[in-house]
Amino acid sequence: MIDSGIEKVLINFSQIQSCCEKMAKTIESYSVDTKEAPLLVGLLKGSVPFMAELIKHITIPVEIDFLSAHSYEGIQSSGKVKIDKDLDISCLNRTVWIIEDIIDTGRTLLEVKQMLLERGAQDVVIVTLLDKPEGRKVQIEADHVGFTIPNAFVVGFGLDYNEKYRNLPYIGVLKPEVYL
Ligand code: 5GP
Repeated sequence: MIDSGIEKVLINFSQIQSCCEKMAKTIESYSVDTKEAPLLVGLLKGSVPFMAELIKHITIPVEIDFLSAHSYEGIQSSGKVKIDKDLDISCLNRTVWIIEDIIDTGRTLLEVKQMLLERGAQDVVIVTLLDKPEGRKVQIEADHVGFTIPNAFVVGFGLDYNEKYRNLPYIGVLKPEVYL
C-alpha cells in the first residue's frame, strides 16, 4: 500500500533488503581479516531503519552506537560539528563504520568523520543507503553506496519531511502538493 503523499516509489523494500545483505557481507569480510567486532555508528535519526535492516544480515558479533550531530549553519563548512547525542562507545583505535541514510552536501559527514579521526579512530568507513552526488558541496565520498539517486527530495525508510514518512518501508518521491 503506497502512502497518499507519495508520487512514486524510487526504491522498494526488496531492493533495500538485497542491498543490506551485500553491505553486511562487506562489513563481515573486513572484520574476519581484522578479528575485530565491527563498530557501526548510525547518524540519528534517519539511519535507524537502515541500521536495523543492515545488522539483521550480519552474522558475526557487532557493536552499534548512535550519534546525533549537525554542522553549523552557514555557507561554508566550519570544520566543527555540534553534537546533540554523543557516542557511548569509545572509537579510540577502532575502525568506525558510519551508517548514514543519505549524503547530499556532505557537510555533516565530513565534519563527523574529521571529529572521529581527531578522537583517535583508526579508520572511518562511510556506508550510505543513498547518495545524491549532484548535491555535493564539500569533498567527501562514501566508501559504500546502496543507491545513487538524482537530486530530488526523497522520503521513507528513515528519511523525513517535517518528521513524517520515516516509517515507510520504501524510498519515495513526495507529491508536490505536500510541500508547496
Ligand atoms: P548533508 O549531506 O547535506 O550534510 O546532510 C545530509 C542530511 O540531509 C541527511 O542525513 C538528511 O537528514 C538530509 N537530507 C538530504 N537530502 C535529503 C532528501 O532528499 N530527503 C530527506 N528527507 N532528507 C534529506
